[in-house]
Amino acid sequence: MINHHPSDATLTSYAAGTLPEALGLVTATHLSFCPACRDAVALAEAVGGSMLEDLAPVAMADDALVQVLARGDMPEPPVMTPVREAKLPGPLKYCSFGRSWLVAPGLRWRPLRTSGRAWGGLLVAQPGRRFPRHAHTGLELTCVLRGSFVDANGRYGAGDLAEPEGDHDDPPSIDSDEPCVCVIASEGFRLGGAFGLLQRMIGL
Ligand SMILES: [Zn+2]
Repeated sequence: MINHHPSDATLTSYAAGTLPEALGLVTATHLSFCPACRDAVALAEAVGGSMLEDLAPVAMADDALVQVLARGDMPEPPVMTPVREAKLPGPLKYCSFGRSWLVAPGLRWRPLRTSGRAWGGLLVAQPGRRFPRHAHTGLELTCVLRGSFVDANGRYGAGDLAEPEGDHDDPPSIDSDEPCVCVIASEGFRLGGAFGLLQRMIGL
């Protein structure tokens, strides 16, 4: 039972392919749990596709492909290294991850190796812990894979996606008996206090 979904703006950006890679992965993870949002994305893609069909075709130069390749700025395809975490949903199964960091007692962070202006990773939080207090300056998405947390907007279980509108005044706390595993991506995220020092040290 999914209770928390991405905003319409986020789903539309996802369908249009304009979300940065890490944010797109978190959205895709939610979609793997949520038939309602899959339908919404399929509709948005169909509308976008029919708009493209209405555009008049433009002839390409004979050497268009050569020109594109000659630019040499094509992004490198991501290195797909299967990770050890069992039961990762489809979109995350073949992502590449960095090493796992113990960022605080009961909190482990494993960065996703993605490109683009957002970054992301897996957070494994032990029962009773809180997420680090932080502020964000852009879109931030969190999808629960296992366990659950609570914040001012309610309870988030497996498949639920949190998309906060402002800063977290009250960091989410883990209320499940098992560790809570989330995939998180953010465009701008600043930790406070000692966490902030650590964030700069490990280059987040
Ligand atoms: Zn949904």
